[in-house]
Amino acid sequence: MSVLVVGSIALDTVKTPVEEHTDQLGGSASYAALGASFFTPVQLVGVVGDDFPESEFDFWKSHQIDASGVQRAEGKTFRWSGEYAWDLNTRETKSVALNVFENFEPALPANFRETAFVLLANIAPSLQSHVLDQMKRPHFVVADTMDLWIETTRKDLDALLPRIDLLILNDSEARQMTNNTSLIRAGREIRRMGPKYVAVKKGEHGALLFGPDDFFSCGAYPLEDIHDPTGAGDTFAGGVAGYLAGKGDGEVDFRQLRRALIYGSVLASFNVEAFSMDRMRSLTNDEIEERYEMFKLMSQFEVLE
Ligand code: AMP
Repeated sequence: MSVLVVGSIALDTVKTPVEEHTDQLGGSASYAALGASFFTPVQLVGVVGDDFPESEFDFWKSHQIDASGVQRAEGKTFRWSGEYAWDLNTRETKSVALNVFENFEPALPANFRETAFVLLANIAPSLQSHVLDQMKRPHFVVADTMDLWIETTRKDLDALLPRIDLLILNDSEARQMTNNTSLIRAGREIRRMGPKYVAVKKGEHGALLFGPDDFFSCGAYPLEDIHDPTGAGDTFAGGVAGYLAGKGDGEVDFRQLRRALIYGSVLASFNVEAFSMDRMRSLTNDEIEERYEMFKLMSQFEVLE
């Protein structure tokens, strides 16, 4: 089954203490769509300006990403720029130019409205709700959010939560949302706000998953060489949603969600190995499966002889 992905499409400028890359493909939807595309066809919804490279449309096509829901507006593409400290974790946003993103109203092509799986990548929660308003009863809805929306548009976010099956957010956002220092309490409390499942990402320390009756905790894939952590969270969400949509009959249970979390972590671990989406451009399904198996072996604590 396909997955519909909506979010930002950007040209990012990213600086680390050793490298800087300008106007590279970025945005929550670009990372999420590519992550999902390794498991299932993707329908992409977003907006770009008239300066956006045509070659990226060819790239999407070659990755089973249908970009007919990407509007081409007059003006410049959304631009974001960030700089990382030596730990490659602490990040400062240097500049944001909304450009064509400022007046973005996601409009779903008719053939996107009946898609069973939806990933609302990080954009304003009112826009995420607007997407759901246009859909005919999607089967499973995954949503991502960020500190900005928790701070500035909390009411819109609260209205969205009961319409979500799986909410993905990071540890600091979970604490911010609940005023709770314990991530376990925070995860449970966020579930009571509406989503059936909640995944809390802990960066290089893995992720937690909360369900109605179950709990799961996993580590992150230990990487030696990180070049650009931008988009790791979006890629994770894409991998999770893509795996759920692409496997089985569309029914989602906790066993599949556990696996989906690992596939999301695997995808995110590849993504940070190079700038922008460069590592994922050449990534193969065999490499994904190989790392998934490594993950399995590393997580065993009763070692098999
Ligand atoms: P992450 O590293 O997961 O925080 O995601 C980084 C991506 O989010 C970059 O590619 C940016 O283009 C994009 N981005 C930054 N700010 C926003 C925003 N306010 N809304 C949507 N996308 C954003």
